[in-house]
Amino acid sequence: MTSLIVCDFDGTVSRRDIGYNLFHHFSGGRTEELIPEWKAGTLSTRECLRREAAMVTATPEEIYAFLDQFELCAGFAEFVDACQSNGVPLVIFSDGLDFYIEYILKRFGLSDIPFSANRGRLVDGGITVEFPHENRDCRQCGYCKGERIERLRDSYSGPTEVIFIGDGYSDTCATRVSDMIFAKKDLKDYCIKNNVEFCPYDDFLDVADQLVQSGHFRRQ
Ligand SMILES: [Mg+2]
Ligand SMILES: [Zn+2]
Repeated sequence: MTSLIVCDFDGTVSRRDIGYNLFHHFSGGRTEELIPEWKAGTLSTRECLRREAAMVTATPEEIYAFLDQFELCAGFAEFVDACQSNGVPLVIFSDGLDFYIEYILKRFGLSDIPFSANRGRLVDGGITVEFPHENRDCRQCGYCKGERIERLRDSYSGPTEVIFIGDGYSDTCATRVSDMIFAKKDLKDYCIKNNVEFCPYDDFLDVADQLVQSGHFRRQ
């Protein structure tokens, strides 16, 4: 059986949620008012991102300088190597924006990792957002990881097992279609509340250890 690892970006690969902090910082905190509605599911991610982007005032230089403070979650670079040496493909699916994911991965020498996300453009002292990945059914996500995982699985012939790693509300659709789920923070709470089986974790050293125990990774 082929195993695939699909990983969230914000708060999972990056230690802190970059999208949240970026919009919060460059809107002078105004984006905060949108979060409760978004978490309650009454504001779609697309509408939320559009409104957040409209509140931003910043030059590209200011935005990239801000991005330089963010670090990766412990053990991620080693985890990427372990996936490679064990022949397990790793992709990043994000409901955040592509420009900062690309920037951060490049800064840490990890540009080879395939990722897809919503599109963010730095224009006229602000940010605009676009949604190039169409959702068939989901009306909540900007970029529905559940639908993208199903399509990714369809692109492989034969049985595939999807291992998902995430931390938040944008990962909930992924839990419906994944075979093994690593969850922390809001995603962990969601799994508990909805009786979704999951493996708790803190960082990628943890995930790698558990994947050795489950037989997905060879013991080093
Ligand atoms: Mg996240
Ligand atoms: Zn969805």
